Order: sequence, then C-alpha cells, then structure tokens
Amino acid sequence: MWSASHDTARWRAAEWFASLLAVVVGLALVVALVLTRTWAPSAAGVGDPYYPAAGGSGYDALSYTVDISYDPESGMLSGSTWVSLRAVQPLDVVHLDLLLRVSEVTVGGAPARFTQTGSDLAVRLATVAGLPANRAGAVVDLRVTYSGRPADLRFAGDDPVYGSGEELLICGEPESASAWFPSNDHPSDPATYDVTASVPAGLEAIAAGTLIGHGPDPSRPGNDAWHWTTDTPAPTYATMLAIGQYDVKTVPVVLAGVPRQAVYAVSESLPHRDRAMAWLEHSGAAVTALESHLGPYPATSLGGLVPGVEPAWGGLEVLGRPVYHRNLVGRDDVIEHELAHQWVGDTVTLDRWQDIFCNEALASYAEWLVGADAGGATPQQRFDDLYRKADRLNGFWAQKLSDPGTRGLFTRVYDRGPMVVQALRVRMGDEAFSRFFREWADQTGPRSLAQWRQAAQQASPVDVQPLLAAWLDGTTKVPATAENGFR
Ligand SMILES: [Zn+2]
Repeated sequence: MWSASHDTARWRAAEWFASLLAVVVGLALVVALVLTRTWAPSAAGVGDPYYPAAGGSGYDALSYTVDISYDPESGMLSGSTWVSLRAVQPLDVVHLDLLLRVSEVTVGGAPARFTQTGSDLAVRLATVAGLPANRAGAVVDLRVTYSGRPADLRFAGDDPVYGSGEELLICGEPESASAWFPSNDHPSDPATYDVTASVPAGLEAIAAGTLIGHGPDPSRPGNDAWHWTTDTPAPTYATMLAIGQYDVKTVPVVLAGVPRQAVYAVSESLPHRDRAMAWLEHSGAAVTALESHLGPYPATSLGGLVPGVEPAWGGLEVLGRPVYHRNLVGRDDVIEHELAHQWVGDTVTLDRWQDIFCNEALASYAEWLVGADAGGATPQQRFDDLYRKADRLNGFWAQKLSDPGTRGLFTRVYDRGPMVVQALRVRMGDEAFSRFFREWADQTGPRSLAQWRQAAQQASPVDVQPLLAAWLDGTTKVPATAENGFR
C-alpha cells in the first residue's frame, strides 16, 4: 500500500535496491507466467461430440445484430451482421459458422483477415491493428458482410432451408443460423438477436421475438424493412427467418404479468388460414396453463407462424414465435409442447446435443401435465398405456436415452422421455417433484443431463439414481418395480 504519509526520506540505498530487485523479480515472474501459461488455440467447433464442427470455442457470444435483404427473383440473401462476443481465453482467431460467402470482416471497425472452410468462418484477431488486447474478458465486436443463395446451401445435418423465390423459410435443428447469419451455432452459447430484414414491399419478413416495427426501407427503395428483437438469450436454432405473403395479426396478451402484443403469422397460400390463425391464438391460454407448472413465462414475446412450405418437422420452438407444420393446425398439444420449450430449450439450453432429453422429455412432460389439466389422460394413464404398447414400438427400449446418437436424436425422447419423468415423479413424490420440475425450468443458460440427474437426486427424499440409470442408460425393457417408478 502506498499512502501520502509515507516518509521517502527514510529510505536508505540498500532498501531502495532491495525494493527495485523485488519489483524486477516480480515483473519477471509475471512475464514468465504469461509466456508459459498455455491456452489451447480456439477451435472450429465448441467440442460437441455429436456435431464437432458446430460453433467455435474460446468465446461467449453476447448479441447478434442482423441486417439482411432478400431478393425473391434471384433468391439472393445479402447482409451484414454485427457479432458482439466476449473472449473467455486469449483469442487469436474467432471461429463462427456461416455457409454464405463472406466479402468483408471488420473488427472494431478495422478490416480483418478471414478464411472460410466449409461452414467455418475464421477471423484472425491477431492481425487487427489497435485491437484491445486479445485477453480473456475482452469484448470484441465483429461485422461480417456476406451474400449467397440459401436454397443452394448444403448442410451437415438436416437442411433447414425451405422454399426459394417469394416463400422462404430458414428454420431447424441442429443448425440453421449458418444459412443466414454468422454465429456460434450451438445451444451452449445462447445470445440475443436483433434482426432487420428488407424485402420487396408486399412481402412480409418474420423473425423471432418482438416486432419493433416495419415500413419502407429508406436505403432500399421499393422494399419494406421488418425489425424484430429478442431480449432473453436463446440458442441460435431458436431463431428463424420467414419471408413470404403472410397474414399477420397482433393480439394483446399478458406474459408473466406484463401486457404484451402477440404476433401471429399464417401464410396466405394456406387454404384454411382463418382456422390456422384462430388456432395460433390459443397460444395465450397455453402459456397460462404452462405457467402453473413451469413458473412465469421466461420470454417477453409470444406468437406463432404457419408457413406455406412444409418443413420436415411438426413444430420448432423459435423464441416467442414457434413455427408449426400446416398439417398440425388444430393440435393444441403441439402449441403446448413448443411453448413449453420457451422454458426448457430456449431459456434453459442444451449444453450438448447428446442431452436432447433435457429439451424433449421435459417439454413433452409439460405437455402431458397441461393435457391432463384440460381433462385429457393423466400422465400416469399415458405412462401405463405406453408401457403396454412399448414392445410393439420400434426400438423403444433399444435406444439409450442418455446417448441416443445423431440418427435417432428426435425419436424416443418424445415417449420414453416423458415416461422417465413420470417414473421419477412417482418415486420422488408429487410435492418434491413439482418443486424440482419448476426450479429446473426457472434457470437460464446451458445445463447438462448430468446436472439434471444430480438435481433430481438432490431434490428427492429417496435415492433415484438406480431409477435414472435403468431408464436413461439402459437398452432393455425397464422392469416394473417400485424402485423404477412403477405404481
Ligand atoms: Zn420439442
């Protein structure tokens, strides 16, 4: 400590030299520590065992500000995205995912060198002059300018691009963002999104979150710009871009006690679009029903979208605006499922894709609970019914839920998944279970299946590890014993 009362006159030469020596030795030690402290270089992938190329390591994405325009005649999408990220280690290279061709990257306003290999966009921070030290904790802002035809892109996983021309939908798991903006495309790094999409007047451009506004695009005559924003961090796959001729309806709703505007959208190409719109409006009631089991709604926006194109899936939990296949219009359980994901999936996010149970089993179980509240089968009835039918369902017991593999990722988590949760409830008792279920859903950020199992064990008055091992790690029929959660 250095204070104003320190009497420098009392310092003798020997003390001075000793102090200098101490400072020099100290500095040398610090330099040596810095030089020998080894960090693995940031990698093109967060290290997901199922999707090794997804995302990039060494940083935490904070927000994406996406500004794109789409030309339906050529199918070309052009854009600039500002990525704000925080380095979690000394960072020489930032690895983002983007399949469109990049023409320019700037870092802190200065041009940066970059390379594109497959879906990986590697930006060299080390070459950027005047950059604040590439140290852990530094916040770096990159701007990426790019263009290309989303319909022409090829993906490692399922193709999330549907349609071309006037109707375009980019939405899907495990990766879809790389078809329209650069990102750390992995659910372990949720962030916020601000999207402005410019399309020819007469078309609508719809994204996740809250509609800030839309109107003539001053920088692109003849175009309308649509501005959407989110304020709760969500995974990249919980975003979407839907362009086309849509009926858009704004409806007042109350979310977690706060009055908001829900925005619903139905493609004008659908034959029964009034019916689809009326069905989407069930979302407000579904949120209320889910809140009684999961706690206050975690997002600030609500809505739904039924596109004219036909996705490979039935529904996808876009933040504040799930997308539904037209064939499922009328199915309230699908709305309840996708909105349950606003808690489990979009707010409590996956740490790795292998832990998909944490998304799908819990959302499916919430759907079971709400279905029973509305007078449908009870979770126990569904459990008993599935157990009776299980032997006739393909691969019902053969899949290891804790390691389902990429090919069957989205299969047994929807039926054996919620059965595990019901068995756990029976074993734990209603009171302990309800508290545990709600407290899990009340978290934010990535969580692993291992953490879920640990939290269940801590919340339970009895040992539930054998039950979870039998149901999650087993590959044979679970014996109907009390220890395994059977009544
Ligand atoms: Zn789901």
